[in-house]
Amino acid sequence: MTDIKSMTSAELTDALRGMGEPAFRGKQIFTWLHRGATSFEEMSNLSKPLRARLSEEYEITVPRAARRQVSQLDGTIKYLWELADGNCIETVLMSYHHGNTVCISSQVGCRMGCRFCASTVAGRVRDLRASEMIDQVLFTKLDSDREISNIVLMGIGEPMDNLDTVLRFLTLVNDPDGLNIGMRHISLSTCGVVPGIDRLAELGLQLTLSVSLHAPDSETRSRIMPVNNAYDVDELFEACHRYFRKTGRRISFEYAMIDGVNDSDAQADLLAKKIRGMPGHVNLIPLNNVVESEFKPSRRVAAFQSRLASHGITATVRRSLGGDIDASCGQLRRKAMAEAQARVASEGRKRT
Ligand code: SAH
Repeated sequence: MTDIKSMTSAELTDALRGMGEPAFRGKQIFTWLHRGATSFEEMSNLSKPLRARLSEEYEITVPRAARRQVSQLDGTIKYLWELADGNCIETVLMSYHHGNTVCISSQVGCRMGCRFCASTVAGRVRDLRASEMIDQVLFTKLDSDREISNIVLMGIGEPMDNLDTVLRFLTLVNDPDGLNIGMRHISLSTCGVVPGIDRLAELGLQLTLSVSLHAPDSETRSRIMPVNNAYDVDELFEACHRYFRKTGRRISFEYAMIDGVNDSDAQADLLAKKIRGMPGHVNLIPLNNVVESEFKPSRRVAAFQSRLASHGITATVRRSLGGDIDASCGQLRRKAMAEAQARVASEGRKRT
């Protein structure tokens, strides 16, 4: 069965033409799918025989909200979506005064191995399909009854490790007949996969590139991010400068503040030096405690910020949302996995 929601409007048009249908049919179906139709039966402007034929050849992905946690502090909603094959992924919906932002996952798990991150603890299970990325935006919107104005690809997974599919997702989510979210309202975050950054630069998309830097020197960065052994800090900065020269777009550097690891004044000085020459913006993130990690949140966030400011680098401190609902990357999925394991273990005990 073909995954119909991963098809672009143009591909659907071709496929429907191939079935002897008029050209507008593809667009009609695209519109139904991206409004959240869960079966071909609902598509009332298609003939019954066509609906029947489509349901023989195509499947429509529909995730199940396995959990939904609403923050009592700020209204952030965290979803744990169960996919058709039983795998689970997380999506977070955050409300800001300028609109609602949905943070979506690009893979089930992650193989990048960042030492402070919960998403990567059990490795990568599989890549998401484009439809499964669309579904996170679509069903979060429908379930929450809130309009979505911005998307950040900052959930579970490394977008550059599934880039072809991420690019397909961007085409789909951009479509005026679909969710119609413009590139300027989309951010893509990478742990620093240089060939991916170069590929994006070539495409010249209007999206915002975020680079999860977390350390300005290779020694520290290799300690906390294995990707640094493949593409070290200097190669990464060269790619960022190339990206800026090619696209003229400002890069956002993510920097999770870890106690005694990456929060010294010397590191702030080095960071400022490496950004010089492009209009980079630094986003300081108070480290979220991850049960599996040895790292602790820094107590020098403000000092680090003013040290950067003294070099003319603007840094903002990310407002922490959903602090009461395990809202940071991978935590809810980890928790659900641990609970499932505990259930299996206790059932095993009961049986013996
Ligand atoms: N793989 C991509 C996108 C997912 S992670 C990337 O690395 O950019 C989204 C952001 O959350 C990244 O900047 C990541 O480094 C950061 N992050 C992961 N674990 C964190 C934690 N425990 N505390 C604070 N930020 C964390």
